Amino acid sequence: MKQFCVFGNPIAHSLSPLIHNAILQSLNLPYLYGRFHLQEAKHLKATFLQLKLSGANITLPFKEQAFRQADEVRGIAQEIGAVNTFVYEDGKIIGYNTDALGFWTTIKDKNIQTALLIGAGGSAKAIALILKQNNINVFVTNRSTDKAHIFEEKNIPFVSQDKLLNTRYDLIINATSATLHNTLPLRESLLYPLFESAKIAYDLMYGGQNIFLDSAKRHNLHTQDGQDMLIWQAIFALQLFCPELSQKLCDKEAYRIMSLVCK
Ligand code: NDP
Repeated sequence: MKQFCVFGNPIAHSLSPLIHNAILQSLNLPYLYGRFHLQEAKHLKATFLQLKLSGANITLPFKEQAFRQADEVRGIAQEIGAVNTFVYEDGKIIGYNTDALGFWTTIKDKNIQTALLIGAGGSAKAIALILKQNNINVFVTNRSTDKAHIFEEKNIPFVSQDKLLNTRYDLIINATSATLHNTLPLRESLLYPLFESAKIAYDLMYGGQNIFLDSAKRHNLHTQDGQDMLIWQAIFALQLFCPELSQKLCDKEAYRIMSLVCK
């Protein structure tokens, strides 16, 4: 029997066990996916091994530590410097990042040319990179500036907040955890003029009250929360956990099942 889990802190709100188990059960597989409230990042790898997991997802705030603790990192995660998926393979922990492709899958058909990404954490790095790789003009801003160099080293402009209004952005992405604390990621006097000239507001958070998307709706923007990104990153993680699944279940059907259980 294979066992998987999601590590995070906090973790009670995570929908990952629900959506992964929905797929595993639909295929009658004797696999189980649980959740683990990890107190300290330094115990991530040891806990994964003690639990004898075949794979895991890693969420806030451990993705950068997961990158450091993996025995080997593959794919876009190498460039992002953050890992959200561990796979146990031949006695080694292999780290991947499925957030980037999960996010891109949700917006690739939306005709975006310019994006402002608010936030500089693990998920912001993944999103900035995948947008750049797909030729979107992406700009990053954050309340603190100590991580600006991470983006600038990859030729992704980091914009200080006093210069934000110099550009218009089609897409404004909230990749901070501000919504979790029921606050806006930027002060109103900056955010509202940005909304005036944008088309879409996207918040990585899903479920519950969303002050950022509620404000965007009042400015007549299209809005999107993080549920579809969660589902797509989970589908890509499942393909890594159980490569045999892709023969039994197409992505579209996996998306349908996961969306149903999220309702
Ligand atoms: P990190 O902890 O790595 O980064 C948090 C970011 O939020 C930092 O840039 C931080 O700024 C900023 N921040 C925190 N509080 C505030 C605030 N009150 N005002 C402004 N900025 C703030 O988190 P992650 O990047 O891993 O995750 C960010 C969010 O995205 C979380 O809400 C997470 O749940 C969600 N997420 C959703 C996913 C999905 O599949 N839907 C996938 C991944 C993440 P500073 O650097 O100054 O501290």
